[in-house]
Amino acid sequence: MNNIYNYTIEKLEKYFIDKGDRKFRAHQIYEWLYRKRIDDIDKMSNLKKEVIENVKEDFTIDKIKIVDIRKGKDVVKYLFELIDGNYIEAVLMKHDYGNSLCVSSEVGCNMGCKFCESGRLKKIRNLETYEMVQQILIVEKEENIRISHVVLMGIGEPFDNYNNIIDFIKIINYPKGIALGARHITVSTCGLIKQIEKFTKENLQVNLAISLHAPNDELRSELMPINKANSLDKLMEVIKEYININNRRVTFEYIMLDNVNDTVECAKELCHLLKGLNCYVNLIPYNETENNEFKRSNINKINRFYDILKKNKINVTIRREFGSLIDAACGQLRAKKERV
Ligand code: SAH
Repeated sequence: MNNIYNYTIEKLEKYFIDKGDRKFRAHQIYEWLYRKRIDDIDKMSNLKKEVIENVKEDFTIDKIKIVDIRKGKDVVKYLFELIDGNYIEAVLMKHDYGNSLCVSSEVGCNMGCKFCESGRLKKIRNLETYEMVQQILIVEKEENIRISHVVLMGIGEPFDNYNNIIDFIKIINYPKGIALGARHITVSTCGLIKQIEKFTKENLQVNLAISLHAPNDELRSELMPINKANSLDKLMEVIKEYININNRRVTFEYIMLDNVNDTVECAKELCHLLKGLNCYVNLIPYNETENNEFKRSNINKINRFYDILKKNKINVTIRREFGSLIDAACGQLRAKKERV
């Protein structure tokens, strides 16, 4: 049986048409789930009894549940237990422009980035669409707020769970549902070339962020093993195509790792790589973890790097820090829970 929160409006319409019923039933159900936020099929009072019985027979409406909450200044981190007993995390960040939620896309991750806590647990499985949708619904209910921005930057590689994240985006973007604007949704990828090519054709108008972290293949392959099969020149080629076809600016995330990728040479190389591209660079102070040797660059080195990019007319920002005191670096809370 399939969870009802897995269904895009098109898929739910199709379900009813296949049943010999009418499309608008799907809209009624969407109204209950995403507008009135009713999560009990029996309470959907404008549906005929027979429809309710059918829906209850064909769908589950199971929910993931919060098992731990950590609060910091302007940041709240949630640990969720899934129905099969696995754990994932979501992080709420309160900005002056709204509330953004960092959503996980997989249980574990196979990308193996050397600096990343999430990847220490190999991928167990994809998250189903409903498990991503519910991260939003449950945090909104718990905090009594509306989330205005969603970033797929939690545990997992979104493009390694391609079909489910596309449905997730369609569901949260649907105007008569959660209605998050495409420009308020960001997908972050370590740079899987085939999927970026596919994504280019979806024409979803969401934001695309690329975790770059190094300006050349040698260093990038060391930090991010997936670079060996997705080399920089090919990656830049598909990104250019994405920018041209979708007419969108791309974000490059660049974690600042002390004496690894924060040198003057790296900054210059990065300028060369990104020259003329419609993009901006987000410099991210590294969240240190006890499980590897990487250290955060000090603020002088971050500023030096920033200045070089600026001077070369590359758009650049330094990410405001959230949550390092509450283990908000992706995967840290889960790791503590499971002691791995
Ligand atoms: N797999 C996707 C999304 C998840 S990671 C991706 O690679 O983009 C989200 C971002 O957090 C990535 O840029 C990742 O490199 C970065 N990140 C991972 N560990 C971090 C840490 N300890 N401190 C700061 N950023 C980190």
